Amino acid sequence: MPRNKGIVLASRPQGEANASNFRLVEQEIGEPGEGQVLVKHHYLSLDPYMRGRMDESKSYAASQNLNEVMIGGTVGEVVASKNPNFKPGDHVVGSGGWQLYQLSDGKGLQKIDTRRVPIQAYVGPVGMPGVTAWYGVNKIIAPKKGETVVVSAATGAVGSVVGQLAKAKGARAVGIAGGPDKCKYATEELGYDVCVDHRASDFADKLKAALPNGVDGLFENVGGQPFSLTMRRLNAFARIAICGLIASYEGKEKSSLDDLRVLLVNRAKIEGFIVSDHLALWPEALKELIELAATGKLKWRETIAQGLESAPEAFFGMLKGKNFGKQLVKLI
Ligand code: NDP
Repeated sequence: MPRNKGIVLASRPQGEANASNFRLVEQEIGEPGEGQVLVKHHYLSLDPYMRGRMDESKSYAASQNLNEVMIGGTVGEVVASKNPNFKPGDHVVGSGGWQLYQLSDGKGLQKIDTRRVPIQAYVGPVGMPGVTAWYGVNKIIAPKKGETVVVSAATGAVGSVVGQLAKAKGARAVGIAGGPDKCKYATEELGYDVCVDHRASDFADKLKAALPNGVDGLFENVGGQPFSLTMRRLNAFARIAICGLIASYEGKEKSSLDDLRVLLVNRAKIEGFIVSDHLALWPEALKELIELAATGKLKWRETIAQGLESAPEAFFGMLKGKNFGKQLVKLI
């Protein structure tokens, strides 16, 4: 049996997360018992929600326990099985965590078809981030033809799908992203009509210029100043999907709605959502996303760190915007 390596949460961050919050552990992994399956992970997904789980404060989900393998989405291959639902060679997606192997009872493991889309896409555009985008666009913003939809973290795992889905519905998509390369990719590859660089000194002026007809839909991934500035441009009956507020995850930039009047006078609807509350809609969303991805109608980009040991640095980088597209860790 192979030796397993994993990364555990060693301590809770005080402010910014750093390497001392994680510890690498190594141990034997047993053979599967009756009903169990042994999965070898090919990729680990790094996601912003993990930062919240490292803290003890109240959130929508329980904190990550200390000295346990960090939570995380994984895709991989069954290498041994005593579970009738899985056989060696099956490709699966699940929540295997930051480790090379997972011994599972099969609950929460889904078989995936990797003939039409690559395996790692099942933790990206045809996985949780893709469904998140699909939910916010279809169930909250519901853009009409010609309306303006603003997307922050526009080239990221979630944002890149939001922009493309909004465009497919005939909306004018305006992205907000960090840096000229991401903005170039947003307009030239993802099809955004305009992209504004939130790191540029003239960001506020450029954002205003990009929104001559105001904002009908906002898919918010970041919070902070870009959020406040966008909210000032709302149109009547605007819909705002609060998906994430990554600018505040390390306690730095707080997100606030400084003037509720903007909601009242515009009769706007603002709704926070968590994609895991809507599991019943996942099959419908995934069917659509897989079809779009397999036929080249949905584009995405990945940043891939090599090896389990690189996961913490890649994670810190993602929280600072160093990732360009979906952040993955290749484990084999
Ligand atoms: P991304 O691939 O978008 O990566 C994170 C991006 O956030 C970075 O690349 C960077 O993009 C931007 N960013 C990071 N730090 C800051 C900062 N301080 N200020 C401004 N921008 C920053 O991640 P995901 O697509 O996986 O997640 C996007 C958002 O969606 C997150 O807020 C996440 O928590 C949320 N989410 C919510 C879900 C839900 O159910 N509600 C489910 C999944 C994700 P740039 O360089 O362009 O600024």
